[in-house]
Amino acid sequence: MSRASGLYRLQEIDLENDRLKGRLEEIRITLDDSAEITQLRADLAAKESALATVQAASTRAENEVEDQRLKIQNTEQALYGGSVKHPKELEDLEMESESLKRHQDTLEDRYLEVMLEQDEAEGKLTQSSASLEVAESGQASQHVELVTERESIDNRLANLEAEREVALASVSKQDQDAYEGLRTRLRGVAVIVLNGDSCGACGLTLSASSRQLVGSGDELIRCTQCGRILYGG
Ligand SMILES: [Zn+2]
Repeated sequence: MSRASGLYRLQEIDLENDRLKGRLEEIRITLDDSAEITQLRADLAAKESALATVQAASTRAENEVEDQRLKIQNTEQALYGGSVKHPKELEDLEMESESLKRHQDTLEDRYLEVMLEQDEAEGKLTQSSASLEVAESGQASQHVELVTERESIDNRLANLEAEREVALASVSKQDQDAYEGLRTRLRGVAVIVLNGDSCGACGLTLSASSRQLVGSGDELIRCTQCGRILYGG
């Protein structure tokens, strides 16, 4: 195995390792990120609270209608029961009864209005609850897939570690240091496969002698333009 090919193998392992770790981070963020669900839960709580308020108003309005009905009933009993005989008193009772009935119309209108508000609040709550349910079930199924993917990545990463040990066995400490330094400096790609007679990264055409040295594999030949280690493939 040439010096460059040993490093190239090492780089393939390292690049796969980088890619898988990047993916693990994406998965971690997705699993943590329940911002949408949090928002929907808050929305549902707000709708529940709004419904409770309108339900209380509805009960109050209903009681008022019922109280008024009893008042009317009592007034009419007095009016028609025969116990009151004095014309002035009867006249007063009649007026009171009329007044109570007019107010009863207002109370009934108010009760009707609040019942409509309650219907609306119930509709909104149902809608909000359905949205949350859809989001939660979507998240649950996505989680199953992501958790499975995470397990398989963890396994692959463990294998890569072992493969890296094997690859390192055929690389000198000096070459490894050069490789690590270049990888840090050149965004992860220290070793590049030739593209014909050119550097596969920056496209610089090699001299015939450099091309030959790369092919022999005894030395590490670096691209004079981008600095990467050239590998004949
Ligand atoms: Zn180059």
